[in-house]
Amino acid sequence: MALLFYSRFSSVTDDPRRWRKVFAAELPDLEFRMWPDGVGDAKDIEYALVWGPKRGALKAFPNLKAIFSLGAGVDHLMGDMDLPDGVPIVRLVDPGMTQGMTEYVLYWVLHYHRRFGDYRRYARKGKWKKLPQVGPKQRRVGIMGLGVIGGDSAKKLKALDFDVAGWTRGHTNLPGVPTFDGKQGFEDFLARSEIVVCLLPLTPETTGILDAEAFAHLPKGAVVINAARGAHVVDDDLIAALDSGHLKAAVLDVFASEPLPPEHPFWRHPKIKVTPHVASLTVPETAAKSVAANIRRMRKGQPPEPIVDRNKGY
Ligand code: NDP
Repeated sequence: MALLFYSRFSSVTDDPRRWRKVFAAELPDLEFRMWPDGVGDAKDIEYALVWGPKRGALKAFPNLKAIFSLGAGVDHLMGDMDLPDGVPIVRLVDPGMTQGMTEYVLYWVLHYHRRFGDYRRYARKGKWKKLPQVGPKQRRVGIMGLGVIGGDSAKKLKALDFDVAGWTRGHTNLPGVPTFDGKQGFEDFLARSEIVVCLLPLTPETTGILDAEAFAHLPKGAVVINAARGAHVVDDDLIAALDSGHLKAAVLDVFASEPLPPEHPFWRHPKIKVTPHVASLTVPETAAKSVAANIRRMRKGQPPEPIVDRNKGY
């Protein structure tokens, strides 16, 4: 029986050789096959490790037991109404990727908290100027989504003494991190967030969540960091909120259309920092071990984890 590696978007992250090497060590009896040329007999495929498969393509494998996502987000799969029924979709929880995401969040929060962008601007003009310094306890940071990644970021910001709050559906056990939920909760959460970080999954409920209304609830001078998915942000609303002076800055790693088209105004906007979807890359050396551990669980008759709730979309 075999595992099929199926990524339609080749990058260093998806380099199948790195994945194959880890699987060979972790599960030597599992054959590693590659889409499109090395699929072989479709009946042999028990596990599919995928990124952006063609619509309906996974129905070709009658003995499929699990679909593993090559990334933490599963929005690349949720648009496929033709996924095989009853086959669990398993999200990737990769300690290497979580670490990278938290580094990204900490880097930008510290950048704005300590006003290093302002110092950079002064330095360019040869201006020696000291700004008042605020302690982390006085800096209110809001994390949208306190899951694997948001939870880790919140915990580490808290360890640095930031005043952190989260917005989720309502359950969390992060000590010292108050959480908000629901519409009123969202408005209250935004109103207290000087730096807001989006780490939500992309679902019908969260698409366009960072719009003009949300920006209006943020305090004047707030900073928006989006490292989740581009479609969480309404691009024109963000530009308007920055241009009006209501928002101080935005850091964007993800975009509704990727690669971000060369003519897109985000590239040249003076208040926007763009990174090319690199907040964190999947690290095959750690991620493949998580997938292998799930396959071992399944072989013992246990369910893999975490299984995507197809109704919730994440
Ligand atoms: P999880 O599923 O672990 O966490 C999702 C969190 O969002 C949970 O706290 C969940 O709440 C909350 N949530 C979901 N829907 C809503 C809603 N409608 N209202 C309020 N809260 C909601 O995901 P991860 O932390 O692993 O990943 C988050 C996202 O980060 C991924 O989906 C992906 O898009 C993005 N990502 C981006 C990367 C990059 O390089 N830029 C790399 C990796 C991930 P609850 O727990 O209550 O369900």
